[in-house]
Amino acid sequence: MTAYRFPDSNVFYRKLGRSYPRIVRGEGCWLYDEQGKDYLDAVGGAYVANLGHSNPDVADALARQAREFGYLSATAFTHGPVEELARELAASLPGDLDKLYFLSSGSEAVEAALKLARQYWVEAGKPGKHRIIALAPSYHGNTLLALSASAREQYKLPFREWLVDVTRIPAPYAYRCECRGADAACPTCSGTALEAAIRRAGADTVAAFIAEPVGGSSTGASTPRPEYFRTIREICDRYQVLFVADEILCGAGRTGTWWAVDQYGATPDLMTMGKGISGGYAPLSAVAAPERIVDVIAQGSGSFLHAQTFSFHPVACAAGLAAVRLLKRDRLVERCARLGRVLHERLAALTRLPHVGDVRGRGLLAGIEFVEDKTSRAPFPRAARFAEAFTEAALEAGLVVWPNVGHADGVSGDLVVVAPPFIITEQEIDQIVTRFTTAHTAAVSAVNAGAR
Ligand code: PLP
Repeated sequence: MTAYRFPDSNVFYRKLGRSYPRIVRGEGCWLYDEQGKDYLDAVGGAYVANLGHSNPDVADALARQAREFGYLSATAFTHGPVEELARELAASLPGDLDKLYFLSSGSEAVEAALKLARQYWVEAGKPGKHRIIALAPSYHGNTLLALSASAREQYKLPFREWLVDVTRIPAPYAYRCECRGADAACPTCSGTALEAAIRRAGADTVAAFIAEPVGGSSTGASTPRPEYFRTIREICDRYQVLFVADEILCGAGRTGTWWAVDQYGATPDLMTMGKGISGGYAPLSAVAAPERIVDVIAQGSGSFLHAQTFSFHPVACAAGLAAVRLLKRDRLVERCARLGRVLHERLAALTRLPHVGDVRGRGLLAGIEFVEDKTSRAPFPRAARFAEAFTEAALEAGLVVWPNVGHADGVSGDLVVVAPPFIITEQEIDQIVTRFTTAHTAAVSAVNAGAR
């Protein structure tokens, strides 16, 4: 049997110390490897496969577009898929966000949104506004500006000299906040910490504040208090700071409304989206902006200084268009809200397991945080690698989840996130709980054995 691991294959794998099961088929929420083993894909790969695997409508749309024309340069031409996809997305977006700039990855969209914020201020006659404020913990991508905006020290360390300085405020992360999310006046949980940070930095130096409306991997689906983003909106208006909502993970229906920020009654100035907008059938991301921002550049230099070969890609946009139309036609966002309630009700049982400190989230997005001690909320020592052990045990049990580490104090902290396709059934949700419990027993034994 071929071993799919470094250095036996020609693939430069993401992880160089493990073997990879080779997947040969996907159907709905399930993946099958060449040995015939099934995996319940409880996180859509990486919060991506919202429509499930092997959707024939999206597959047909991709093939149709590739037969018409596969690629053309967006500097010279426009085309049907990009025009129609922009129209469909604009109709779903809050407030005045109705201009869309398409790219391939989430990191590119974050890079582009932050560059757009900066270029806007330069062309609006305020060139001093350059500083970015972001949350800790947070994750916004792996390219250098997006990585700068991310509070992920373990990813940043070797590249420190290449990164820009980003101002931090603590993320609204109730489980780890001193007030435990219960104090409406807490600067972290209410959002007023942003005002203090802007005043310290000097408002005339601050270009943008970037945040996920519902926490993704970094805070394991933590949901800010209901007033959080209205407060953020007011502060950003008061100090002329652009509010960038990063909806790459939590958007496109994942939390039960089209956009996670919809449930906060606040409109961002810029929004990034990616992952689920094409259901994963092609790499596709976008920045949404209002005319009032784009027009400053239209009246100024005349073009946004961020072009990439694969931006506005016809086949990727055709996949996005098919995915967005399917979400609308089959009312899958409403289904996500409905099945999300079932998911949270069933996952609540996991809090009875040892070391499961918290289960939280919204819609079909749920974070399960592991702790060494449930009363003090003390995390496992990092050396125990609990999240990694759990994720491998889950794969062994035929369950795909997404791990995160370091959120408790920048080093320690173990959680996993589940974010299944919107087509998941109640029976499949029960399967998540069953397989999770099996993996949990195995991970606890492995970590205890390692400690002895
Ligand atoms: N922003 C958020 C909130 C993310 O979760 C991610 C990826 O996980 C990104 C940005 C970067 O997206 P990509 O990995 O597609 O570059």
